[in-house]
This record gives sequence, C-alpha cells and structure tokens, in this order.
Amino acid sequence: PFTLSARARSLKPSSTVAVTSRALELRHAGVDVISLGVGEPDFDTPPHIKAAGIAAIEAGRTKYTGVNGIPELREAISQKFERENGLHHAPDAVTVTSGGKQALFNAFFALLNPGDEVLVPSPYWVSYPEMIALTGAVAVPVPTVPEEGFQLDPERLERLITPRTRAVLLNSPGNPTGAVFPPEVLQRVAELAQRHGLMIITDEMYEHLVYGAEQVSIGRYAPEHTLTVNGASKAYAMTGWRIGYAGGPKAVISAMNSFQSQSTSNASSVGQYAALAAFQQHQETLRFIEMARRAYHERRDFLVAGLNRLGLPTPLPEGAFYVMTDTTRIHPDELEAARIILDDALVAVVPGTDFAAPGQVRLSYATSMDQLQEVLRRLEQLLARR
Ligand code: PLP
Repeated sequence: PFTLSARARSLKPSSTVAVTSRALELRHAGVDVISLGVGEPDFDTPPHIKAAGIAAIEAGRTKYTGVNGIPELREAISQKFERENGLHHAPDAVTVTSGGKQALFNAFFALLNPGDEVLVPSPYWVSYPEMIALTGAVAVPVPTVPEEGFQLDPERLERLITPRTRAVLLNSPGNPTGAVFPPEVLQRVAELAQRHGLMIITDEMYEHLVYGAEQVSIGRYAPEHTLTVNGASKAYAMTGWRIGYAGGPKAVISAMNSFQSQSTSNASSVGQYAALAAFQQHQETLRFIEMARRAYHERRDFLVAGLNRLGLPTPLPEGAFYVMTDTTRIHPDELEAARIILDDALVAVVPGTDFAAPGQVRLSYATSMDQLQEVLRRLEQLLARR
C-alpha cells in the first residue's frame, strides 16, 4: 500500500544497533551478557544538575523556549567557550540543540549541497557518513591507522582535497579511536581550511576525557572557518536529557536555527535548565568531571593492558572512553568476530565495519572495573578454547 522513500531506503541501519539488539535478546532470555557496546557514561547525572531539572519542572518551565535556546544558557555557553576553549562566540553566535547529534545534523544541512565532499578522518563515528549522505553530499575518509595511534596526517588530508571539498569534520578526542589530535596537527588543518576556503566542523563531545594529552579547540586557529559542536551528554553524564550546542560564524548558526525552527523547534526546556546548572555551578561540575576522568583513565589502562596480554593488539588511546582492538586472531572478519565474542564469551562489542575499521572491534570502558575484569576473564577463556 505504500513505498518508503528513496532516502529512507538508502539509510544504513547501524551495526551498533544490530549487536545491541542481539545482546538485548540474549539478556531478555536470561543470559548474563556484559555490554561494552554503548557509548554512554555509566555514571548518574550529578545531583546539582538533576536538582535544577526538577526545580525547572516545579517552576513550570515546561513550555516552548526560543528556537536557539534560553538566553541564560546561551550566555553560559558563550562564557564556557571563552573560559575552557579560548573561543569567542557571543550568545547570539551560539545555539542549543536536541543533543550534539542535532547540532551536527543542522550544521550539515546548513553547509552542504548535493555533490559536496566532506573530509572525515577514518575510522569515524558511524553517524557522520549517514548524516552527510542525507544532504546529498559525501563523506570522504582520510585514513588513519592503529600503528600510528590513529593520528591524522595533514598531508594525507591535503592530498584528498578536490574542487568539490567543502568541509573537514574532526572529532578529537575521537569515537571510536580515542585519538586526540595535537595542537600542531590542528594548526596545519586550520591553515589548509583557510587556504582552500573550507569549513571546519569540530565535534568536541569528549573534550574533557583526556588522559595526559593536550586537548585544544581548532576554532582558536581559524575562527571564521570553524563551527564547534559540543554537548552535555558525555561531559555531564546527561545522555537522556538531549542537550547539545554549537558556536561559530553567525550566518552558519542562523541557518542552523532555521532548520531547527522547522523540525524540533527547540531543545527540551527542562534539559536546558538542567544544563544551565552544569555551567553555572561550575566548581561542582568540575569535581564530577575529574572524578569521572580518573575512573575512565584507570579503566583504560586496565583494559588495554589486559587485551594486549591476551594477544589482542590494542593501541593505548589518549581520550574518550573507547578502545579499538584487533580481533583477526578470533576471526578475520570483524562482524563474525563480534558475533563469536557475543555468542561464546557473552560480551557485546561493536564491529568496526561501519566505522571503516576492518579487522577491529570497538569496546567501551564506560563500565565498572569489576565488569572489565570479568570481560577479560571471558575473553581469555574464549581464546583458550580456539
Ligand atoms: N558525536 C560523537 C562523536 C558521539 O560519539 C556522540 C554520541 O555517541 C554524539 C556526537 C552525539 O551525542 P548526543 O546527541 O547524545 O549529544
């Protein structure tokens, strides 16, 4: 009786979802599966942020807000950009969105035409190429490799610039690689963007989760060319509140607002007031971030050492909460390897297929040390059986 649109049919269901559904099925059947698949903090939203959300509900702040967010929050984000990133975005050059995802979505629609190319270091986050494809543009991978810690080579990036290249999309610290691009690499990319007239879209969702490396916002080097996307999800353990934001050239922000005005109207009012507390009660938020960062740091060291000891080569990532592990010892095909790890070791991981990371799987260490210990025990048994 109906046909789905060509766009709907062209969208690839993510393999992250495939493994997660299978893991849920097993769990539902009473099997004790440990999931290292999801990209979400295992910590609860900090109490001062929750309290602000509750207070907003009780005060009746439960109506539409301005398309680009409540003014207090845009003011707080403007100050955050200044204080933490050295970026100067006035409150009207800031917009609040329904998660970082919608900021990216709005940005791609604001900037890309069909046939445009966007350079994206690979392995990349699964949603990038799909979102870009919805605009009719195409993501062009700039390969990075585990042997180099997934570091970006600006020369390789430059060689891929064509007359159709419109933008560079960076994600540092990166999902799924955990790579953090150093200031000198970012400076080079900023120069290239200026020279070739490209826009830089930088997804800084994991900015606080670095374990010794220096995290710098590329917008400092090319302010006129950079749109900085960030959000509350990973930094403040607020994935369900759906608050993202972006700062950049006013014309871009204003076009993003137009897309938002015709789609979601505004980010959740309650979520916005909760996020406001995260910025305003800065010291408390910093304490939370530092507590989480230390925990992730310890887990990263433990998991990476354990995987390498088991003979599963895993580079030490400098940020975020993911590791990429070479699973060719289990099976040359990463989808098959992920299936074996799920069915035989009862551990859910994400195959690298959709990240453009053949032979590798992604493990998230946003889970307790006890769970990670158990994961290593199960993997050891799996490897012993094979
Ligand atoms: N960017 C990256 C690299 C991510 O990993 C995620 C979430 O997984 C997001 C953006 C989107 O975050 P949210 O929409 O929850 O703010």
